[in-house]
Order: sequence, then C-alpha cells, then structure tokens
Amino acid sequence: MSLHVVGAGVAGLAAALEAAARGHAVTLHEATGFAGGRARALPDGGDNGTHVLLGANTAALDFLEVIGARHRWIEPEPEGLPVFDLEAGRLRQVALDPRRWRDPARRPPGLTGAGLLAVLRAGLPFQGGTVEQAFRAHPEFLRGFVEPLVLAALNTPVAEAGLAWLGPVLRRLAWPGAGRLLVARDGLGPDLVQPALAALGRHGVRLRLGHRLRGIERQGGRATALVFGDGTLPLDRRTAAILALPPWEAARLLPGLPVPALHASILNLHFSHASGVAAPRFLGLLGGASQWMLVRPDAVAVTISAAACRTGEAVAPLVWAELRRAALAADLPGPWPEEAPPCRLVREQRATPLHGVARIGPPRLRPLRHLALAGDWMAPRLPATLEAAVRSGRRAAQAFGQA
Ligand SMILES: Cc1cc2nc3c(=O)[nH]c(=O)nc-3n(C[C@H](O)[C@H](O)[C@H](O)COP(=O)(O)OP(=O)(O)OC[C@H]3O[C@@H](n4cnc5c(N)ncnc54)[C@H](O)[C@@H]3O)c2cc1C
Repeated sequence: MSLHVVGAGVAGLAAALEAAARGHAVTLHEATGFAGGRARALPDGGDNGTHVLLGANTAALDFLEVIGARHRWIEPEPEGLPVFDLEAGRLRQVALDPRRWRDPARRPPGLTGAGLLAVLRAGLPFQGGTVEQAFRAHPEFLRGFVEPLVLAALNTPVAEAGLAWLGPVLRRLAWPGAGRLLVARDGLGPDLVQPALAALGRHGVRLRLGHRLRGIERQGGRATALVFGDGTLPLDRRTAAILALPPWEAARLLPGLPVPALHASILNLHFSHASGVAAPRFLGLLGGASQWMLVRPDAVAVTISAAACRTGEAVAPLVWAELRRAALAADLPGPWPEEAPPCRLVREQRATPLHGVARIGPPRLRPLRHLALAGDWMAPRLPATLEAAVRSGRRAAQAFGQA
C-alpha cells in the first residue's frame, strides 16, 4: 500500500524505514526544510542539543545499526562517568550499571543499603508519588545520582517527576550493558540524520521537505484525506497515513486527542573552544547550573535540562566558570582560559513532555481508520526519548502489516 508518514523527526524516520522495509511505497512529509526534528543539526553543523543514548536503548541502537551508523556512536567514558561536585570541589567516577557499584570507586555518592532498597522499590511497577518523595530519606544519593538521572531521562525536576516514569528506566538499567553511555562521535547530522536519510533513499522513500500538513479530513471513524498547502491526498483502503508529530501538533490536527499538556525545556550552550581532546569526553556536574558537558575537539556543549528558570546570555559566563573547574579537575587537555569563549545558546522550549505524577496513557495507536500515530510521546510506558520515538515509529508502521 501507499503510506504517507508526516513528520521527519526520529519517529517519522523510523516509521518510514520500517514501512519501506515492509514493502510499502512511502512518502515522508516534513514541514521544515530539514529532517531530525528535536534531534537535528543546526545550519552551521552543530547539534541543537547533546543527545545521549544508553545501552538500554535497544531500539534506538538497532535503528542506528540498520541505517549503518551504529559505529559512529561511541562510549566516551567506558570506565564510569566522571562527575564533578562544584560545591565539594571533588571529582569522582560513577557507574550507571548497578553491578559495578560493588566497586567503591564507581559507587554513586551517598549510596547505602537503604538507598539501594529505595532504588529496587522505585523500579517496581505501579509506584505512585514523586521521585523526591521516594528518595527523601536519602538526600545525598538523591542529589548525587537519582536527580541527575531523572533530569537526563525524564527532563523533569525530581519534585515533580512521577515515580511511575522512573520505574521503567530503572528496570532497563538492570540489564547487562544497559548502563553504557553513548554519544554521536561527530554530531547528530553525520551520525544520525544523514545516515537515516541515506537509508531511506536506498529504500526508495520519497522525501518532501517544506511540506506541512495543514489538516485532516475525516468522516465518522475514518480519516479520508490529508490536506497540504498544494493539494489534498485521499486516504482509503490502499493509502494510509502515519502522523509522527509532536503532541501539540497531533492535537491541532485531531481535536480532542488526549496528549500531554505540559512540557519542559532544555537549554544547551555551545562554546567554540579548541580543547585539544582527541575524542569526545563527557562529564557530569553537580551543585551548579550546568548538568552535563560534552567536550569535542573543537567545541564544548553544556546541557541544562528542565531549564525553566535559566535565562538568557547571562548564564554563559557562569556555565563556563563551572565547566572550566570541572575540566581542570578532570585534567582534560587544552588551555581552559578564565574568559568564556563565544557561545551560542539553543533553548528548545518544548523539548519533551513533563513526566509528572498525573500520567495519562498515550491515545489509541489508530484513532481513525487509515491513520496511525507515532512520536516520542506515543510509546507506552516509556519516557519521551529517542528510544520511545524509534519504538513508536516502528509500531505505527507495523500496524499496516506487510505490503
Ligand atoms: C535539546 C534536547 C536534548 C535531548 N536529549 C536527549 C537525549 O540525550 N537522549 C534522548 O533519548 N532524547 C533526548 N531528547 C529527546 C529527543 O530529541 C526526542 O524524544 C525525539 O527527538 C522526538 O522525536 P519525534 O520524532 O517524536 O518528534 P520531533 O523530533 O518533534 O519530530 C516531529 C517532526 O514533525 C515535523 N512537523 C511538525 N508539524 C508538522 C506538520 N504539520 N506537517 C509536517 N511535519 C510537521 C517537525 O518539524 C519535526 O521534524 C532531547 C531533546 C532535546 C530538544
């Protein structure tokens, strides 16, 4: 059959590839002039924001394998994540894999037997309340391990983050190899988006950039046409659509669709700085404005998740001072001058849904006949990430079976 995938973010790319591999004739429609969506390269080649994958993200890693880009994602800190505590002025290595916590040199700060029990409890299904409530009795462990993990995985402050969202993350981290942390060696353009587009090209997928879906015509329980600025595409038994859109856009096109209402932003600061590292390095920071820093040979990117209160250019010198201290403590090569180098700020206002306590499940995969939904918010039981985006895209394509 003919499948029209709308939205060329990671969910749409995965949906298009899966559908094409199943023998469908696929057209991918994207409103903007570029693919990648919230995981994209900017016009100057830099990333909109650092993206990290874990070994637990099996669908995302498999997608990279299929598009021939798995080898381009590397593990910058195989010995454990260096974490610099700005308040204590101390650097330590922390393993994400709980099996490695037997080694005191890789153990998260403040981990006790009771703290470990709290982790096990938090990993059980059907847990209610916030993450902060669950770890309140273990403040050092909360600050030094749980909070950074929750900010990275849920993009939500611990005081608001729902334990029900953290559970699946913890359960997946228990698998062997799940705690390996990977980053794109050269960036999201060369290591994700371009290889994905090349793979789609090999499968004969037609890409239409600058082609925004304006509306959907429907009759009863059927979607009958996709409405674009330059015409209408009828939908029927032999022609169907996958909407791989962010929740607010899906709700605009399908009024009444239950979608996440609240979102959280992510602020990334990109410093032009020739550090002299030969390969990417990745460090965590505690107790400051900055949370993660990715040091590439010619740039340093700092991530501030759930970044509602961080504003404007004024944050750049503060962040530079923090990352400079961490870089010196970790003995990273290169000069680290006191004065901040040129910096570009990229704030993604609606980076992900807020993963709070009031949790509504995603809507039906196929709310109308001839139409399925995808997107990072559509993966059942997973927080909105690349993994969820890939899973949702594949699931939507599978809903239309083999050609
Ligand atoms: C700064 C930042 C850092 C992040 N870090 C991580 C990380 O470290 N690890 C991780 O796993 N995840 C991370 N994420 C989350 C991850 O980027 C998203 O979960 C994922 O990219 C969402 O993909 P998607 O395809 O569901 O949605 P999107 O990427 O939003 O794709 C939707 C696409 O649809 C297009 N579109 C919208 N409306 C229309 C229309 N009407 N017609 C046609 N096209 C339309 C959009 O332009 C877009 O290209 C991060 C996100 C951000 C913003």
